[in-house]
Amino acid sequence: MGRDTFQDPSQQDLYSGLIRLHILHHAAEEGIFGLGMIEELARHGYRLSPGTLYPILHRLEEKGMLRSFARNEAGKIRRIYRATPAGRQALRSAKEKVRELFGELFELAPAAERRMR
Ligand SMILES: [Zn+2]
Repeated sequence: MGRDTFQDPSQQDLYSGLIRLHILHHAAEEGIFGLGMIEELARHGYRLSPGTLYPILHRLEEKGMLRSFARNEAGKIRRIYRATPAGRQALRSAKEKVRELFGELFELAPAAERRMR
């Protein structure tokens, strides 16, 4: 460890979607801010520098999945991000796909059995 997760191109491709879903998940539950999200992702084993995370937040906002506003916290201006309705909808769809992948990765049920439900 010690390197930004995104400095390794092979990891970047694999984890970029997971990191975006993780951000969307937390932003759907509460207001998030860059540094807090960096700590949260580090807790899960993803090391991201501000220079990597902030562009991700900005792009999610450009795509209409997050919206941000400035909040004054004890004299410190902090940009807070929340999921938009479009972001929540995208998260719901993605969660279905993650559930299916999770089931297959960990073989919770045979694929044929799942299809019959
Ligand atoms: Zn988390």
